[in-house]
Amino acid sequence: MSMAQSRVDFFDTTLRDGEQSPGCSMTQQEKLQMAHSLADLGVDILEAGFAISSEGDFAAISSVAREVRGPVIASLARAKHDDIERAAQALEKATRARIHIFLASSDIHLQYKLKMSREEALESAARSVEQAKRLADEVEFSPEDSTRTDPEFLCQIVGAAIGAGATVINLPDTVGYAVPGDYSAMFQLIRERVPGADKVTLSAHTHDDLGLAVANALAAIEAGARQVECTINGIGERAGNAALEEIAAALHVRADRFPVEHGLKLDRLYGVSQLLGRTISFSPSPNKAVVGSNAFAHEAGIHQHGVLSNPLTYEIMTPASVGVPANRMVLGKHSGRHALRSRLIALGYHLQPADLDIAYRAFTELADRKKAIYDQDLINLVAHHERHQDLISEEAAYKPS
Ligand code: MN
Repeated sequence: MSMAQSRVDFFDTTLRDGEQSPGCSMTQQEKLQMAHSLADLGVDILEAGFAISSEGDFAAISSVAREVRGPVIASLARAKHDDIERAAQALEKATRARIHIFLASSDIHLQYKLKMSREEALESAARSVEQAKRLADEVEFSPEDSTRTDPEFLCQIVGAAIGAGATVINLPDTVGYAVPGDYSAMFQLIRERVPGADKVTLSAHTHDDLGLAVANALAAIEAGARQVECTINGIGERAGNAALEEIAAALHVRADRFPVEHGLKLDRLYGVSQLLGRTISFSPSPNKAVVGSNAFAHEAGIHQHGVLSNPLTYEIMTPASVGVPANRMVLGKHSGRHALRSRLIALGYHLQPADLDIAYRAFTELADRKKAIYDQDLINLVAHHERHQDLISEEAAYKPS
């Protein structure tokens, strides 16, 4: 298949798989704020949670489905009647809803976790997809632990899900076991062997246990996947999921290699990453690609000299292209409201005009006392006013710009 003219959908699971990682849980209000920010970034599908897993998850999915416009809103569900019902209820107010069903297909999961035979799994896959098909606009099916599933059986269960009406087939590397060559071969196998595979969207879902999540996702795109499942800052179970910002940056920098389109606004990446870091009190490490604090820092003299002469000597993308504020622009007492607003947006704050006025007054007071205002000063300033509720609550304050 030629990659020309084709589009890769970004499926963000920060609020589901991401939230499942230690220290990353979010309140309903925080999830809603993140969801608005992800919609502004331009993700195509937003997995807001796992509806049956808790009342909190159900409420969070419902509020995202009711209030966030743009992306398709998805809920995870096991291949069980009540899970699927609950997912459908949570998604009721979405403009476009997707139920994402997962069912383990590897022998080790079937035998030890589900205590189910392969035949029972095939029946369960078909039955649950048919049920979801009656309740949602789109149905995604994931044979969990695909990369440790017998390839023959993987083809059978994918075939059963497509036959029952699944519109997206996701092949998760649930435990982060695959290497890029294996992972792309799996997509090729499904496309060659399963009738109807050319009529559905194939999707990659990769984990970083071997540090290969992004490499595997890119290998899948080369092999025909047209959806990638990923999270902001790569948060997620164990070592995390593929980082959305890294896949997006790779598609941008290596457009020669990946002639595909997507709907993300790359210059929003840094702001969303910052917002998530503040929300979960868990920032990416300084050397994290694309969004880490050192991602565009140059220490060695030779590198500094090169970058000053021409940034392309040591930078494969500009900081501005992914929304990292240019360090040359220092805010001070002579800076205007517009400069403050754009820096706040870059840091992931979208304030209403009335709140911007309050923030600007506080900023000018601070600038009278301090020569240069750095990003951390602005973060402290907004946090201080949020604590004292001078600024309206996060929910009311946030309006997509
Ligand atoms: Mn996962």
